[in-house]
Amino acid sequence: MSGESKEPQAIRKLAPGRLVIASHNEGKVREIAALLEGRGLEVVSAKQLDLPEPEETGTTFVMNAELKARAAADLSGLVALADDSGLCVDALGGDPGIFSARWGGEDRDFGRAMALVEEKLAAIDDAPRDAHFVCALALAWPDGHVEWFEGRVDGTLVWPPRGDKGHGYDPVFQPIGRTETFGEIDEAEKNDISHRGDAFRQMVAAVF
Ligand code: IMP
Repeated sequence: MSGESKEPQAIRKLAPGRLVIASHNEGKVREIAALLEGRGLEVVSAKQLDLPEPEETGTTFVMNAELKARAAADLSGLVALADDSGLCVDALGGDPGIFSARWGGEDRDFGRAMALVEEKLAAIDDAPRDAHFVCALALAWPDGHVEWFEGRVDGTLVWPPRGDKGHGYDPVFQPIGRTETFGEIDEAEKNDISHRGDAFRQMVAAVF
C-alpha cells in the first residue's frame, strides 16, 4: 500500500465509560447529560473534578471547543466533551460570534447584549437582519485524538425581543420557516431545529 489513500479517516467511536463534560455551567452539563442518556456513559463535570477553566483564546468556535476538551482530557485522563456556541450577525461581520457570552458583560446581561446588537444594526443603512447560531462540539481523548462537529441554524433578528423561554439571544432570533422566536418555542422543539441539536445529532450518528 502506498499510504496515500484518499479514504476519509474513520471517526473514533466512543466506548462506554466515564466522560467529562468540560464545562463549569451546571445547566449546560445537565442538558448534555440528558442528550447522551442511555449510551452507557457515566457523565461527570469539570467542576465536579475540580478542573480549572481554560481561557478561551481560540479565534473560532471549533478552536475554543477543542481547547476546552483537550485541557479537560489531559488533566483528567478521561475522554472529554466541550462545546462552544454563539450568534453570528451577517451585517456585523459575524459579531458577536465567539464573543457572544462576553457581550453580556460580567453579569451576563443578555438584555443589554441584544440591545447592543440592535444598536449596531440600526447604525447601518438598510442592514440585512440575517443571522445564524453556531454550536461546535469537540470530543478529546487523553491520547490527543479529537473529533469535531459543527451545527448551525439560520434565521432573522427581530426587535423588540419576544418570549421568555430559552436563554441568551433567544428572544431576538426567529429561525427560518417559523413565526416565533426561540424565546417563544419550547426547549424540546427548539432542540429539533437548533444549532446545538444539529451538532449533537451529527456527533451521536458518528461516534456511537
Ligand atoms: P459559550 O458558553 O462560551 O459557548 O457561550 C455561548 C453564548 O452564546 C451564550 O452565552 C449565549 O449568549 C449565546 N448562545 C449560544 N447558544 C445560544 C442559544 O441557543 N440561544 C441563545 N443564545 C445562545
